[in-house]
Amino acid sequence: MSHREPVYRDQRGRHPWWVESVDNITTETDDSRLKKANMHSIIHGLVFESERIQEQMEASRGYVAKGIKENIPGRTLPDLALHYAAATYMHTTVGSLGDPYIHMMPGIEEISGKWKLHPPQSFDLPVWETTPEEASKVVEKAGIQLGAAMVGFTTIDPRWLLDMAASISSEVDEMTSEGGKTLIPEKMKYVICVMGVVPPNLVDRNWTELGAAGDRAGFEAAFMASTRMLRFIKGLGYQAFDLQPVAPVIPYAISAGLGELGRMNRMVNPIFGGNVKLGAVLTDLPLALDKPVDFGLQEFCKRCKKCADSCPGNALSKVDEPTWEPFNQWQDAGKRVYFEDNEACMQAQRSKDVYCSTCMAVCPWSKQDKTVLHELAHITAAKVPSLANLMVKMDDLFGYGRITDGKSIRGWWEMDLPTRGVDSYQGRKKAVLRRLFR
Ligand code: SF4
Ligand code: SF4
Repeated sequence: MSHREPVYRDQRGRHPWWVESVDNITTETDDSRLKKANMHSIIHGLVFESERIQEQMEASRGYVAKGIKENIPGRTLPDLALHYAAATYMHTTVGSLGDPYIHMMPGIEEISGKWKLHPPQSFDLPVWETTPEEASKVVEKAGIQLGAAMVGFTTIDPRWLLDMAASISSEVDEMTSEGGKTLIPEKMKYVICVMGVVPPNLVDRNWTELGAAGDRAGFEAAFMASTRMLRFIKGLGYQAFDLQPVAPVIPYAISAGLGELGRMNRMVNPIFGGNVKLGAVLTDLPLALDKPVDFGLQEFCKRCKKCADSCPGNALSKVDEPTWEPFNQWQDAGKRVYFEDNEACMQAQRSKDVYCSTCMAVCPWSKQDKTVLHELAHITAAKVPSLANLMVKMDDLFGYGRITDGKSIRGWWEMDLPTRGVDSYQGRKKAVLRRLFR
């Protein structure tokens, strides 16, 4: 490779106008004094090996315990649990044995262990005691900080357990595995549902690798939010387990008021539409529950068939009314819904080796513009769902739908987008009409 002069780019727009670009960093350096330290001593984690630090870490346990016992603001048990839940990345990267760092840094396994959870029991302190209302308030706040766009609370429901995987038992006090099945103690009845948001500008370009990136980013958001939530609840001293191995999440999220089931056979949230992915945590922490919501979607979906009309796999039902009969043997009976040909959905995705979210992205409820006109359309749709046809026409008129032309698809790389492509405040706080009617 030939030597080339460095190329500098135009940095305007990254900082405000009063920040200048300069030729050298503003920290003084002197190459004649340069002497590099031993690599091990500069890796932050390995400093923990020093005896002095070890002694201090031991002593700091008393300091941490005092904060919990005396409820010192900023050092209470929920504060500590949030701290450790926020450190989940250390367990998914440095702490993972498959990580390349493990081979680079001998002794890192033991060091990563020091970042493990500190539930109150490890300080010989009782679990966090509060009212269910306060618990839900704190858990919701923590969930938003830990990556969820919304958090909802409901209870375990035997109708929505995977029978072959789990059952509720009065015989056990802790989650127990017996004969390949999970026994869920009766007291583990609370379900915390967390919702991750899919970056809309990626999934609008569905049926491409960009669309697949958006779909996966949504799953990652939900996964990280629920994994961190799990650690937060354990940090409060309670049991916490991922719900997904024992039950589908959608019915729980709907019971917890995060949305309604749409024709697309997925949950539609009144603010983020179908551009959401879900996670859930099962716990024995007593919580105040949420009720399901109704924003007129059942009536709306009867008239709007945008998801079904746009599905590249022709997998979604176009019938006028939902039915009781499952489409195939992989679906449970007992609910009146628009059953989907889930085999056709999977087949379509595998034929291009991409992940598809077309139905979720084209849904009129998924549009993320902040105009009053758009909000008015949502309110009208919720209150007068019989106007769905008009709303869908308006949606089409505004050019909403899957982006298919090459120039616009490529245009994603030119867009000015929020971090991770998601404005999680969308419609929640800023919406003008919402505030007026509150
Ligand atoms: S994910 Fe894609 S293929 Fe599957 S139902 Fe939705 S639009 Fe159709
Ligand atoms: S696209 Fe229309 S029919 Fe499909 S879920 Fe959304 S509102 Fe319902």
